[in-house]
Amino acid sequence: MHLRTLLPLAVALMSTTAFSQDKKPEKHGLGYNDTPLIPGTKWHVHDGDRPQPPVITPGKKPGDAPSDAVVLFDGKDLDQWTSGKRDGSASEPAKWIVKDGAFECVPKSGYLFTKQTFGPDMQLHIEFATPSPGEGESQGRGNSGVFFHGSTYEIQVLDCYENKTYPDGQTSALYGQWPPLVNACRPAGEWQTYDIVFTSPRWKDGQLVSPAYVTIFHNGVLTQPHRALFGGTTHRKINEYKEHPEKGALALQDHGNPVRYRNVWIRELKPLAE
Ligand code: MG
Repeated sequence: MHLRTLLPLAVALMSTTAFSQDKKPEKHGLGYNDTPLIPGTKWHVHDGDRPQPPVITPGKKPGDAPSDAVVLFDGKDLDQWTSGKRDGSASEPAKWIVKDGAFECVPKSGYLFTKQTFGPDMQLHIEFATPSPGEGESQGRGNSGVFFHGSTYEIQVLDCYENKTYPDGQTSALYGQWPPLVNACRPAGEWQTYDIVFTSPRWKDGQLVSPAYVTIFHNGVLTQPHRALFGGTTHRKINEYKEHPEKGALALQDHGNPVRYRNVWIRELKPLAE
């Protein structure tokens, strides 16, 4: 016999043997419990006893808040925000102005902070528009910022449409550390979106055991792919991590430009290891 004839026969024999040695899979509830354990978990492959993911209602259209989000701005008021200095001190009623379903930075009025704190891991949706026509250049054009843990970790907001600046300071940069993968900016005045996943750093007995990680989609485009931060963000230096509570306020930067924001919502996430 030719090898070409023998080969399919051998394969058929082997698979018949393998099949006859296999136990018939035994169903257990919705799945199986006679399957291997998934490494690092107490769950079997296809384990029917594994907790069901909670059911939520997604937003009607992309960008709308799902049912389990905390809506931080619904187009009407800034009741969930306070104004304060960069270090979070001198907290007072929000001084930024609400108009046309958005809110706008009033230059030199201070940062905005959420009254509520969030963490350790979270998903944030926020929309922004830089002033039009764009004025100034480099860091002076449409500058603001989205911060986690008070003013500790900044995701840059800037008008980088046909405006060059140092790469680790451009739109959707992790300021002073990681430039975005691409420049996905829309022109000044147009609404843009950030969808951000922020994983807070973890400490054990005063030692950092896991850094902060950030993933960003800017206008739906991946710009930060699960980047590890080196510490808090700042100007012209690298900060070391300083231990902080697992929850913190969200903040928006007053950098002297009347940047507008709208449709802000946040979801706290279960620790990713569960
Ligand atoms: Mg900034």
